[in-house]
Amino acid sequence: MGKITGFMEIDRLEEGYAPVAERLGHYQEFVIGLTDAQTQTQATRCMDCGTPFCNHGCPVNNIIPDFNQLVYESDWQAAIDVLHSTNNFPDFTGRICPAPCEAACVLNIHGVPVGIKSIEHAIIDKAWASGWVQPQPAPCKTGKTVAVVGSGPAGLAAAQQLARAGHAVTVFEKNDRIGGLLRYGIPDFKLDKNHIDRRVAQMQAEGVVFRTRVLVGDWPNDASAPLLDHEKISPQQLQQDFDAVLIAAGSEQSRDLPVPGRALDGVHFAMEFLPQQNRVNAGDQLPAQLRADGKHVVVIGGGDTGSDCVGTSNRHGAASVTQFELLPQPPAEENRPLTWPYWPLKLRTSSSHDEGCTREFAIATKEFVAGTGQHADRVVGVKTVRLAWKDGKMSEIAGSEQTLPADLVLLAMGFVGPVASVLQSFGVELDARGNAKASTDEAGGYATSVQGLFAAGDVRRGQSLVVWAIREGRQAARAVDAYLMGESVLPR
Ligand SMILES: Cc1cc2nc3c(=O)[nH]c(=O)nc-3n(C[C@H](O)[C@H](O)[C@H](O)COP(=O)(O)OP(=O)(O)OC[C@H]3O[C@@H](n4cnc5c(N)ncnc54)[C@H](O)[C@@H]3O)c2cc1C
Ligand code: SF4
Repeated sequence: MGKITGFMEIDRLEEGYAPVAERLGHYQEFVIGLTDAQTQTQATRCMDCGTPFCNHGCPVNNIIPDFNQLVYESDWQAAIDVLHSTNNFPDFTGRICPAPCEAACVLNIHGVPVGIKSIEHAIIDKAWASGWVQPQPAPCKTGKTVAVVGSGPAGLAAAQQLARAGHAVTVFEKNDRIGGLLRYGIPDFKLDKNHIDRRVAQMQAEGVVFRTRVLVGDWPNDASAPLLDHEKISPQQLQQDFDAVLIAAGSEQSRDLPVPGRALDGVHFAMEFLPQQNRVNAGDQLPAQLRADGKHVVVIGGGDTGSDCVGTSNRHGAASVTQFELLPQPPAEENRPLTWPYWPLKLRTSSSHDEGCTREFAIATKEFVAGTGQHADRVVGVKTVRLAWKDGKMSEIAGSEQTLPADLVLLAMGFVGPVASVLQSFGVELDARGNAKASTDEAGGYATSVQGLFAAGDVRRGQSLVVWAIREGRQAARAVDAYLMGESVLPR
C-alpha cells in the first residue's frame, strides 16, 4: 500500500475528453489520459485491501493492488509485467472495458472507486512507448498444430497463449482484416485500429499465422451473404489438418424487429452501419444509404451498440439523433448497499450521449412508416407507443401512440446468437440459447461435444464483453494445451 492515508486525502480524478465540438470533427480517440504524476497519485488511493474485491470483479482477475503499488513506486515496467500476467491486451481493455473492477472496488461503497481503468490505460501506453512490449516467442516448439477460427479478442488471446506455449497456431478469419468486433464494430473513436495492428505484428513475430478472407464452415445462402466468394474450408478439413481446433467465431446474428415496414430502405442493422464506418476510416467509401448526414436518425436499442451508433451518426452530421429503450429509465445512482460489489443497474451516459442525443425510455416501435410518391419505398417515420412496466411485465399505454420523423433507423437490439449454419457445420452440440455448448470449469475445459474441438468467447457464452472474451481465450488455450500435451503451465 503506497500511502496509508491516500484514500482519505486524494480525490478520484477521471480521464478527460476533448471538447464535443472538436471531437465531433473526426473519428480518432479523444480520451485525455492521466499524466504519469496524476496516475501515481491516483494509484496511492488504493487501500491494498485484505480481500481485493477489484480482483474478483475483474473477469481476467487483474492483480490490481500490485500494479497500483508498482505505479506508486514508479516501477512501471514491473507494473506492465503484472498486468500482462493476467491480460494479453490491456491496450484494448484500458480503453473500452466498462470496468467491473471499479464497480467492485471497496472504495465504490461510497462512490469513489480507485480509477483502475485509467491506471491500466496509463501503464500499457507507457509500456508501448518505452519499447517494453516485445514478442515473446516460445523457447521450444511442441510440433503440435492448432487452428483458431475467428480473430476477435477471444481468438487472439487464445492464439497468443498457445503460440507462447510452443504450438504452431493458424488463425482463420472470414473478414479482410483481423480483430473481430474490435476491428469491425467498435468505432475508431473508442479504439484506434492501430492498437490491433501492433498486437497482430507482435503475434506474427511469435509465430502466429493469420489467414484472412477464409470462411470456415457454412454461411447462410441468402441475398445478404457477403462472403460467398471467400475461400472456404470445411471444419472437417481443419480437424484433419490440425491437432486441435478452437472456435472463437463470436455471436454475429443480430436481433431483428419484424414490425410492418421493416423492409423499407433506410432501416438497417447497427452491424451494417458501424462496420462500414470502420471500413471508411480505413479508406473505403460509405454508401449513401448508410450516411446519416442531414438525416433524422432513430437508434433502436439502449445499449453500447446503440450508443456507438449515436456517436457515429453525430460525426456524420445527423440532423437529429434519438435513441429508444424498451425498459424504463434506471435510477441515476445505484443502491450500493444492495448491489456492491456486483455490476449495478443505473443510468449510464456515454461520451456519445453527451455529444447530442434524445434518449427515450419505456417506448416500443410499432411500425416503420413509408414515404409517399417517389419515396414510397423509403422510411420517413417511426410509429411508437409508450410502455408501462409493472412487476417486470410491460403493457402498452392506450392513446400514447406517436410518429417521429426518421430517415435512417438503426437496429441495435443485441445479438440472438452465433450464426447457426456455422455451428451446424462443425456438428457441435448447442446450449438452450443456440451457443456452442462447452463447460468452463477445469474438468469441462471449454471442450465441445466433438473430440479435439473447443469453443470460447461470445460463440460459447453469448454476446458479452471484450474482457470476458480475453478471459475465455486464455482459459481455453490452457485447456487445449493440456489436451495436446497432457498438462499445461499456462495460467487459468
Ligand atoms: C458495436 C459493438 C460495440 C461494443 N463495444 C464494446 C465495448 O465498448 N466494450 C466491451 O468490452 N465490449 C464491447 N462489445 C462486445 C465485444 O466486442 C464482444 O463481446 C467481443 O468482441 C467478443 O469477442 P469474440 O472474440 O468472442 O468474438 P468477435 O469479436 O465477434 O470475433 C469473432 C470473429 O470470428 C469471425 N468468424 C465468425 N465466423 C467465422 C467463420 N465461420 N469462419 C471464419 N471466421 C469467422 C468473425 O468474422 C469475427 O472476426 C461491443 C460489441 C459491439 C457489437
Ligand atoms: S478494492 Fe479498490 S482499494 Fe481495494 S485493493 Fe482493489 S483497487 Fe485497491
